[in-house]
Amino acid sequence: FAPWNDPEAKPYISFENVTKKFGDFTAVDDLSLTIYNREFFALLGASGCGKSTLLRMLAGFEEPTAGRILLDGQDLRGIPPYKRPVNMMFQSYALFPHMTVEGNIAFGLKQDGMPANEIAARVAEMLKLVKLEQFAKRKPHQLSGGQRQRVALARCVAKRPKVLLLDEPLGALDKKLREETQFELMDLQMKLGLTFVVVTHDQEEAMTMADRIAVMDKGKVKQVATPAEVYEAPNSKFVADFIGNVNMFEGTVSTVVPGKVDIDIPADKITIRTDATRECSSGQTVGFAIRPEKIRLSRKEPANTSVNAARGELYDIAYFGDMTVFHVRLESGRIIKAASLNAVRTVEDPLGYDDMVWVNFDTDAGILLTA
Ligand code: ATP
Repeated sequence: FAPWNDPEAKPYISFENVTKKFGDFTAVDDLSLTIYNREFFALLGASGCGKSTLLRMLAGFEEPTAGRILLDGQDLRGIPPYKRPVNMMFQSYALFPHMTVEGNIAFGLKQDGMPANEIAARVAEMLKLVKLEQFAKRKPHQLSGGQRQRVALARCVAKRPKVLLLDEPLGALDKKLREETQFELMDLQMKLGLTFVVVTHDQEEAMTMADRIAVMDKGKVKQVATPAEVYEAPNSKFVADFIGNVNMFEGTVSTVVPGKVDIDIPADKITIRTDATRECSSGQTVGFAIRPEKIRLSRKEPANTSVNAARGELYDIAYFGDMTVFHVRLESGRIIKAASLNAVRTVEDPLGYDDMVWVNFDTDAGILLTA
């Protein structure tokens, strides 16, 4: 499933040069974005970046100040929320406290004037879908947080919208339940064949669930790509830094040899040699990002210490069960983060506190960043 790579694929949701201003403040800034049918799409960004505003414009709670939003070829401007083929699930779930689970799920269908027998059938189908058959007669306060979340979800999909919008759908759940529910949501989205657009500030959540992620900052989209691409091939320092852990360097290109670029990092008195994955020229200021798991640590001096090597003191070791994270302080004072999967052990053992170690890495291990 990768319609974004198919030049023939028709966009399903298009934001075309959409701007939203609140007074003088620009919450969404000339933003264009395409989402495909049946895609699980995540809007990811820090608080205040404009992701909820984008979702609210799609739902019809706000109108763009400029630009337009199309759904399945139809311009949505002026169409009130209840007439749009989208439904939105809020973080608070907004369940009716005095109604039972069935009552909550049936509510929208009744309002639409659906015949009672059809409502009963649809509610039963929804209860089964979210595995809440035994809870039909309970009221929201008699349910756990995870169950309430599923009722809210069932209520949202009961009307068979084409698009489901989810604003921080798992925000109210604890970590373990959130992880389980992520997989349930993915499963549900597949079964229903709906397009999901989810807003989250939690990168792990976006990475786990989404087919593609739009990383947002200050009302703009910085990158739209699959989870693997935003992690392994971020297009900018912002995205590299925002997604996952990273060691970020800034320096000046000293030489460009075929296929390789040397970057001087004066602050740390080191030279980084990296595969030339982006065009750059001698003298240019560039960034270099390397993930902790791509760093090797050893007490033994590497064969070549002129590039991609530095010595430092191992001053922190944190054991996380699945992995161990090491902090090395270089002579310059910079802290290098290295991580090794405990099952694989890429770090020479046994390293201990205060050991002097060599940090080094391969030329294809990091990411050259020119933006
Ligand atoms: P969060 O994760 O905190 O909800 P967000 O990325 O979803 O953040 P938005 O809710 O889209 O951010 O808000 C973007 C910016 O627009 C914020 O600075 C917010 O204060 C501002 N904003 C949102 N709605 C309004 C409004 N109705 N009037 C004025 N400013 C608003």
